[in-house]
Amino acid sequence: MRWTQTLIPTLKEIPADAEIVSHQLLVRAGLVRKLAGGLYTFLPLGLRSLNKVAQIVREEMNRAGAIEVSMPCLQPPEIWQASGRYETMRDALCKVKDRAHKEWILGPTHEEVITTLVAGELNSYKQFPKNFYQIGIKFRDEIRPRFGLMRAKEFIMKDAYSFDTTDAGAMASYQKMYDAYARIFARSGLKAFAVEADTGVIGGNHSHEFMVPAETGENDVVYCEACGYAANIEKAVSGIPKTASREIGAAIETFATPGVVTIEALSKAPYSVPANRQIKTLVFVADSEPVIILIRGDDQLNETKFMAKTGAIAVRPADAKNPADLAYFTALGAMPGSLGAVQNVPAGWKIYADERLQGANDMTTGANQDGFHIKNVSIERDIKVTAWMDVRTVTAGEPCLKCGMALKIRRAIEVGHVFKLGTKYSVPLNATFLDETGQRLPAVMGCYGIGVTRTLQAVIEQSHDKDGIVWPLTVAPYQVCLTPLSVAAGSPPMVLAEQLYAELTAAGIEVLIDDRDERPGVKFKDSELVGFPLRVGIGEKSLAKGEVEMKPRAGAIQAVKVESAAAAVIEWVRTEHARLNAAA
Ligand code: ATP
Ligand code: MG
Repeated sequence: MRWTQTLIPTLKEIPADAEIVSHQLLVRAGLVRKLAGGLYTFLPLGLRSLNKVAQIVREEMNRAGAIEVSMPCLQPPEIWQASGRYETMRDALCKVKDRAHKEWILGPTHEEVITTLVAGELNSYKQFPKNFYQIGIKFRDEIRPRFGLMRAKEFIMKDAYSFDTTDAGAMASYQKMYDAYARIFARSGLKAFAVEADTGVIGGNHSHEFMVPAETGENDVVYCEACGYAANIEKAVSGIPKTASREIGAAIETFATPGVVTIEALSKAPYSVPANRQIKTLVFVADSEPVIILIRGDDQLNETKFMAKTGAIAVRPADAKNPADLAYFTALGAMPGSLGAVQNVPAGWKIYADERLQGANDMTTGANQDGFHIKNVSIERDIKVTAWMDVRTVTAGEPCLKCGMALKIRRAIEVGHVFKLGTKYSVPLNATFLDETGQRLPAVMGCYGIGVTRTLQAVIEQSHDKDGIVWPLTVAPYQVCLTPLSVAAGSPPMVLAEQLYAELTAAGIEVLIDDRDERPGVKFKDSELVGFPLRVGIGEKSLAKGEVEMKPRAGAIQAVKVESAAAAVIEWVRTEHARLNAAA
């Protein structure tokens, strides 16, 4: 391909709306253009790289025994009602109406569709296991589309769905996908690692997210360098001790704390109650019901953990400024800052308490009376806790539950997710089979997603320098950029470029000739911005010495004899390819 024949609109300026470097580079290198927020057109180079990521995904899915299908984007709402997600995913669903005013859903994911298919097509245990995948467009009504392809309204996902007859079979399918993911990211030149992830109400440890470490990521990952434990903060646990028990006996005592509405204020003189001896009382609205959540004064609630443990679908803090919520505080008798669960909790309100408070005594909490607190609280004696659960957020430095070493926390981008679903969809959507004894059972499912477009951008986020993208060879739009410094037809650099182009292309190498009539500086800068793994500079000066200049994007220039140039390039590409595939 020739530069002048395709479209590579590189930009010098950083686009004003691109906050993170990978987004800036996607636009500056002429890979994508924004149509509207969260909607992007892939330009020729961007599409080539995207197709390469998709092809790696496809090869590894096929190698793992998954079967490719293609499902419609437009989905009938009835199957979403059947699974219950018409309600639970309501906010994320993009809907459209047809001419008969019938509503359709633009698929954000395809569990309902594939399970409906399997319900109709598979019937005997002999037809299992099966794993179906597709690579296609998803739509999600994200609250805040941002960071380019990272969080888009419309994006490309590889989604796979496994169907097994037994739990053990489902675990084997899960492991195959887990292994395939590790290979996919390694082959894409991406350093990604698996972390334990939230499993919602399904429970268990059979959900992993594949994360790419990056300051710009939207996830916090807790990890232990000593033993390798790693978990999303929404799931992570630590070996932090429970609250130290002190002498019991003293009865509760209400005391005045005028104007004190924070943990911090109560920890100061004249009260001097350390945060770790305070109980923080949070009022939440969980599936439209008011609930109380108790955590230690020096801890933070993790809402995802709370949702996973209780099965609540819509959870939000009650807001005293919201007239509808104000009634909850009125019922308790106090505003935030003086809340507690010792007295005046309306009948029927559930009180959830973090496990770290279990057995705690000599604690201080709000009195449900503005300007008053209660001390000498022995939580199990004085508070009617409905259920104990781990809902606190782990912080850096806490001891690892497995090995005791200090945990660390880092930001990361989620590029993929593997999840054992069990029978969550096969039961409501009737994906059942007859076993050897003629008994009808629901299939045991797993689902496995990779954000193909997000992965592409994560590669850039991880692999760039001040001059531009540094593409791993396997996902670069072209492997080699030939840069003749004179482009007049018949000029020696152009003649040699065309000759090398033919030889390299014949050897299966993907080559772009920068045939623009531009200054060498402009061409070099652009080739670095776009990030071709190898540039071959062909100028009159070096030609006079019988040489061309080979410049790996991430390495030093080397002079190569014209006669051996093609062989040197082929060898370089071969070695680089082998290196990336060896990582897989
Ligand atoms: P997130 O927590 O980032 O919203 P998710 O948990 O909703 O992601 P899944 O439903 O597990 O995502 O989807 C599988 C993969 O699809 C994710 O791992 C991610 O790579 C990608 N993905 C999800 N939402 C988006 C989006 N809005 N834009 C681009 N890629 C996305
Ligand atoms: Mg996820």
